[in-house]
Amino acid sequence: MQPKSTKIISIILLFFMVICLSSCDKVPQVTEYCSHEVVIDKAVPATCTETGLTEGSHCSLCNTVLVKQQVIPAEGHSSEEYDFDIENHYGYCLKCGNRFTEKHDMDPETKKCSKCDFETVTPPPFPSGYITKEHTTIETEHFICEIDADTYIIDNLEYYLETLFDALEVVSGLSFNTAELGKILVEVKKAQAVDGYVSETHIAYAYFNRIVISTGDLFISGGHAIAHELSHILQNHNCGWNFRRILPEGFAVYTTYKVTKYMEENYPDIAYALEAAENNMRNEKISAEGYKELYSKPLSYWQENHLPHSMSSDYAIGFRLMKYLDSVYNDYSSWITEYQKVNPFTPDVSDDRLDIREINRVLPMTYGEYVEANFYTWLKRNEGFFEEKPDNTTDRTHLSYINIYPKYNYRLSAMCFEGFEYQDIYFNIDQLRRYITEYKGDKLGNFRFFFGALEPTTIKLYDSEGNLIAKHFSETAVGTYSLEGVGFIQFVGRGTIMRFNISGFASIE
Ligand SMILES: [Zn+2]
Ligand SMILES: [Zn+2]
Ligand SMILES: [Zn+2]
Ligand SMILES: [Zn+2]
Repeated sequence: MQPKSTKIISIILLFFMVICLSSCDKVPQVTEYCSHEVVIDKAVPATCTETGLTEGSHCSLCNTVLVKQQVIPAEGHSSEEYDFDIENHYGYCLKCGNRFTEKHDMDPETKKCSKCDFETVTPPPFPSGYITKEHTTIETEHFICEIDADTYIIDNLEYYLETLFDALEVVSGLSFNTAELGKILVEVKKAQAVDGYVSETHIAYAYFNRIVISTGDLFISGGHAIAHELSHILQNHNCGWNFRRILPEGFAVYTTYKVTKYMEENYPDIAYALEAAENNMRNEKISAEGYKELYSKPLSYWQENHLPHSMSSDYAIGFRLMKYLDSVYNDYSSWITEYQKVNPFTPDVSDDRLDIREINRVLPMTYGEYVEANFYTWLKRNEGFFEEKPDNTTDRTHLSYINIYPKYNYRLSAMCFEGFEYQDIYFNIDQLRRYITEYKGDKLGNFRFFFGALEPTTIKLYDSEGNLIAKHFSETAVGTYSLEGVGFIQFVGRGTIMRFNISGFASIE
């Protein structure tokens, strides 16, 4: 047991310890009485890559921080012009002068990089195509298509054919008669060598209710042969006599002209797969001497004879004749149904060729005795309509995406869309590449395209997934660009492409 005095001392000690602790506790309060000596902590500017600090201050006596310095994030490099790839952009920094590489700063909403031009778009739902492995039959409401093996066919051929079928009835005022005559047989022929060149458009003709046509003319490289041959079928369905030259060819070329114009307004995707309406007139020029010659003989003479100084006599005269009937009589097709009434054709006749005297009866029978004489009077006033327009552009501004194909004709010619007015249109390069390599068996070398436009042009090149590979602005409205790795391209904004050529594969280098 401790002595009592020791116990008291302990209590006193404890008392002082408590006092001491509580007064020690109050030590910081001493600063209230420090007459701070303020020292500025200088700001440290952030650099492109290092963080910085804002200006601050502290007391040199008591070390109290008076204004806290804040961390300034590194600013990052910045440039006015960037190169980029799918991952990064590259530039020379305006501030530090260094070449730098950065990951894109993608906005998840717009899928665009905040700094460079890089963007990702959803690839457009381009139509596709396939190569038949064996003989293939496609039956639709009004057609039976018998397709050769090893033939390139667009997807959804039914849509193209049936829409064209309906449109032909609308523009001509005639109806097909598949109910009685059966479905129209379309024999699709694979490419064939013509003079050593494998042509995709070597054949196109129509029998009574049957068309034979090359695969390249079936909504692929922009020919209008399918519309022309279907026009012949339409005439046959209403009167199957062979009217020989001007009348049937005139009906076919003029109906094709009308139907392609109709398609341009109502089905631009199909119109694109055919050919510009104005191109129907290209084969049908008549020179000044040709007109003189034409007017010197009655129309009946030209029903049997070739007109000199014209590219294709029957087409040239026939087109003008049908345009005349359409303009003056507001009807260019009822000679077909009228003649059928007086001299009915049945599919079992052994010789379908009409005598020339019969052919000369056809128009007066329907339109009156002056129809032929008035034709020349009308034509003299309207020759200008048939002149080729210097800038025959077609309005395709309502198309947002389309496949493009080269035209493997007797030689590989330009793409089909000379005079093409666009608004933000995408062209499918993947399908073009497939067509050239897998189908045509060409080897790609320096695969590239050239275009000529009416205005300065911005184009964007994307890979197959929709990542922007390159963006080009062509001030001079012409340009040649590589298609290496390109899945599709876009012509940006509004403009007019006058020429579009691709090259860099074996057939055209
Ligand atoms: Zn102080
Ligand atoms: Zn920098
Ligand atoms: Zn970027
Ligand atoms: Zn024809």
